[in-house]
Amino acid sequence: MTKVILVLSDGLRYDVAKDNMGFLGHLVENKLASLYKIVGELPSMSRPMYETIHTGVPSSEHSIVANSIIRLSKMPNIFQSVARAGKVTAAAAYSWYSELYNRAPYNPIDDKEVDNNALNIQHGRFYTQDEYPDIELFNIATSLVRKFSPDYLLLHPMGMDYHGETYGSDSKEYRNHAVYQDSKLAPLIMEWKELGYTIFVTGDHGINKDGAHGGTTPEQRTVPFFVINPNGQGGGDTGETSSHLQIAPTILKLLDVPIPETMKQKPLSFD
Ligand SMILES: [Zn+2]
Repeated sequence: MTKVILVLSDGLRYDVAKDNMGFLGHLVENKLASLYKIVGELPSMSRPMYETIHTGVPSSEHSIVANSIIRLSKMPNIFQSVARAGKVTAAAAYSWYSELYNRAPYNPIDDKEVDNNALNIQHGRFYTQDEYPDIELFNIATSLVRKFSPDYLLLHPMGMDYHGETYGSDSKEYRNHAVYQDSKLAPLIMEWKELGYTIFVTGDHGINKDGAHGGTTPEQRTVPFFVINPNGQGGGDTGETSSHLQIAPTILKLLDVPIPETMKQKPLSFD
């Protein structure tokens, strides 16, 4: 059994991650990690994909089909399943995560920082501004790991999405931010691995040169799925395609938590 950290980099596109994230590339090249390609679920919008990734069901089933739908999740999900199994959950994430799994609508003062075992996200640190600096969030997430040793931690930075929407995907700002995230995550990934965490790095959707997402093109929907095992064994660049729908059952299986019947996709196996 392991603990899991999901780095869900908002708006991280597959090709840009592969070309610009050199530390992750180093792990893949030396078979210390595995890389899959995810053809993302639709619509390639944030809130629908947050829910898809955490429930393992498509948007037509969970009904969070637009960013404008502000309510708690009605489906079994990772946070709820892990908390009910008596394990510890944590997140450093955008406030929409608080709305999906803790309380809706979001109260920017009362909900910003929570430590409450009765919540699905027991240790939550949330932000509301898209330009919130990733490095601050990375440090908060690492502080949560050191303080609470969560069994499941979500780290959800907005920097790729912010730079992609502001400058378009064909820009030095978007590409350079992938370099930045990789270099800031590198020492943290080494620390978390040492603590026995399995680490996933992925995106909710991509982005196109117009700075848009929501549609069906590869630019808007294709994201990476990096897998870093604590034992340091990896399959390199697998050339295989995976699905957003496999992330939730894969995480629950790793945590030895029962997989709800609603999560129908097979968990990924890294043996
Ligand atoms: Zn997003």
